[in-house]
Amino acid sequence: MAHQFGASLVGITGVHKEFIFKNMMRGMDEWGDEVPEHWKSIIVIGIPMNWDPMYSAIGYSTSYDAYHKCRLAIGKLQIFLGELGYGSRCQVPGNDYEMTIPPLGVLAGLGEASRNGTLMTPELGTNVRLAALVTDIELEHDKPVDLGMQHFCRDCKICATSCPSGSISLSDEPDTVIRGFKRYDFNQDSCYRMWQSGPTAMGMGCRACIAVCPYTRKNNWIHTIVREADPRDKTGATRKALLAMQHNMFYYPEAEAYHGDWNGGHMAGYHQPPEWMRTENYFKVDKTWAYDGNWEGI
Ligand code: SF4
Ligand code: SF4
Repeated sequence: MAHQFGASLVGITGVHKEFIFKNMMRGMDEWGDEVPEHWKSIIVIGIPMNWDPMYSAIGYSTSYDAYHKCRLAIGKLQIFLGELGYGSRCQVPGNDYEMTIPPLGVLAGLGEASRNGTLMTPELGTNVRLAALVTDIELEHDKPVDLGMQHFCRDCKICATSCPSGSISLSDEPDTVIRGFKRYDFNQDSCYRMWQSGPTAMGMGCRACIAVCPYTRKNNWIHTIVREADPRDKTGATRKALLAMQHNMFYYPEAEAYHGDWNGGHMAGYHQPPEWMRTENYFKVDKTWAYDGNWEGI
């Protein structure tokens, strides 16, 4: 039913205390770590951001496109379960959460934890926005998956070298432990400052790390081959060959180029935008930017 209501990905996990918030903001008093006993399962859904704006530029507020769809899908699921007589509560963007969702997505088997701190899925890469529904139904829980994506992250580092705020760890191995889980270090403060430097109050954001990730590609044949071949090759040779191609055949600008032009940047986007997004074709604007990338089609 979650798929019927619009979810692209769906998984189910248990209630993991370590990912339930103890307060709503830094500096507020903790309200303790007791979790309601009737919370039995968490249903996690994922929906991709609109591909064209996501590939194209910082200034297009694509997160809210997917967040909006997430709210609708999970809201319908909540009503559906209510009609069946079960209690549930939405955990939805922008900020109506009582838990942090990406690790729950990992536990629900939707994908793996990526270098850039997001959930990375085999179908959508890191281009996935999440919502959840906590319910009193004792559902069968999915299991975490190991599809070799974290191994890919170990050698790849493209998001880290492309991040305009240097927020992503370049370490060869996960280099920090958060709530008992090993992961790559991530500076959320410097990332958020980059977000806040967007061109307008509504056009804030960044997403360079998502757009440049080799896993973040529409589900086309070449990436299907990659996804199937790499995890099966225990020597790592496929991964190394693919990454050499990725690094050498595709152009990546310096990370600083993604800053706003008032801050020394000079790139309008991560990849070439489609014709319909080229504002200068339709409005009389003084074009001060260059389009970036040679990624057409892939
Ligand atoms: S959103 Fe931008 S600033 Fe934040 S980690 Fe990704 S690339 Fe870096
Ligand atoms: S860009 Fe590379 S290192 Fe970063 S999340 Fe994607 S696969 Fe992992």
